Amino acid sequence: MKIRYRLALSFAAVVAVSAAVTVVLSRPAAESLFRQLAFAGDAEKAKAYAGLLAEFHAERNGWAGVQDFLLGLPGLFSASADVGIHGAASGGTPPVSLAPFLSDRVVVADDRGVIVGDTASAVLGSFHPAAHLAHGIPVMSAGGARVGTVLVGSMVDSSLTGAEERYLSAVLAAVAWSAAAATACAVALGFLLASRFTKSIARLAAAAGEVAAGKRVDPVPAEGRDEVAELSRAFNAMAADVARLDEARRRLIADSAHELRTPLTLIRGAVEGMLDGVLPADRATLESVHEETLRLSRLVDTLRELEIIQSGQIELAIEGVDLARALSKAVGLFAAAAAERSLAIEYAGFAESSGPDAASDKAEARGDALRVGQVIYNLLDNAVKYAPAGGTVRVSLLPDDGTAVGFSVEDSGPGIPPELRERIFERFYRVDPSRSTASGGRGLGLAIVAEIVKAHGGTVSVGRSELGGARFTVTLPSFGARGTGHQA
Ligand code: ADP
Repeated sequence: MKIRYRLALSFAAVVAVSAAVTVVLSRPAAESLFRQLAFAGDAEKAKAYAGLLAEFHAERNGWAGVQDFLLGLPGLFSASADVGIHGAASGGTPPVSLAPFLSDRVVVADDRGVIVGDTASAVLGSFHPAAHLAHGIPVMSAGGARVGTVLVGSMVDSSLTGAEERYLSAVLAAVAWSAAAATACAVALGFLLASRFTKSIARLAAAAGEVAAGKRVDPVPAEGRDEVAELSRAFNAMAADVARLDEARRRLIADSAHELRTPLTLIRGAVEGMLDGVLPADRATLESVHEETLRLSRLVDTLRELEIIQSGQIELAIEGVDLARALSKAVGLFAAAAAERSLAIEYAGFAESSGPDAASDKAEARGDALRVGQVIYNLLDNAVKYAPAGGTVRVSLLPDDGTAVGFSVEDSGPGIPPELRERIFERFYRVDPSRSTASGGRGLGLAIVAEIVKAHGGTVSVGRSELGGARFTVTLPSFGARGTGHQA
């Protein structure tokens, strides 16, 4: 069953149950309230009877004849009403009977609890202890003694009269109808809300199906802050990642084919030339073929290496890497290449902003010394390659902040335009292919840097150097607390 229907049914079930509970519970509550109301009215009447009966008792000096008095009361009232209307002279049967207005049952008990008057004649003569008569109204003599008790209507019999019963049923029926109407509204509203709510889920499911089928999808709408919006945003990010990876994979295959084609074409041309006798099969030709095969294997090795690093299969021999030592050693290695292009290459120790730590000139990273060396080597190689003749290359340490240490490599070259600063870490990406290929670059050096740094849990970024060119900054996890575990 679709979530939409399931939700709507759940709403309806919840409302129906609560409506049923309301109906069931409202019956005793309404009945009890109704009884209280009836009792209050009957108590008022009983007080009036108590006054009348007190006079009767005083007049007769006892309760003898009270039953007849009670039964005759409607007639007495009707007769006095008749006198009131027609005057004292009038006689005969009263034209109107007031009996229906005096139809309440009236019970009178004497001071001992013996019933001396009952308009229903049901309990006449029976004895009732004081506890039974507790609800009644006392009949008091002029001297203040209790001479009896009077009970009227619901004080005698707690069952409701026919009219009261009908009224109560009507009230309860109204409650039941309201509950049914509320349930119907809940079903309709629940269905509407559920449809709206599940629409975005259905949209997500459809988009996920498209991605699974290898298609590109537009981002699904993700307004708001609820869980579905969060899920939609996560889905959009994932779909964008999948699309980017897909694109990167496609480009990698195309670029690899392109990069492999050049040396292969050269080798084939040379070999075919020799076979056809166009080229001499001498040492010089073979050497150039050999050079191309070396270039091919280097490229394949680099690609393979990149694949291993990227797939997470790279095994890092983690130890404390003394960055100061690694950097100054690398600077020494590049000294000859820098001198060839009249470049000033310097190891500047801690950057000026490093504060008191500059004195120690030590920063120990948690990493694989060989891989960290490869990162430094690739960055220096680029700096020396891209800095103009007579320019400067500078390597500095960044302070250990307790969790990370780092270094930067900067030069006075052309720098990297801000919009390309993310892309240069992609495989085969070259800002200026002609310039880069001429200098032997294949657009893989920085991709390897990025992967190695990522495998270490560090970061690499590029910005602008005050020397005018690019400034590459690498951070790596710090090797434990400062001052411990330093290598000599
Ligand atoms: P390549 O082998 O082509 O140098 P990299 O991955 O090392 O490949 O670098 C990618 C691109 O980034 C280069 O083609 C170059 O355009 C740019 N680049 C890298 N380092 C620098 C630098 N120090 N100064 C200017 N451009 C640079």
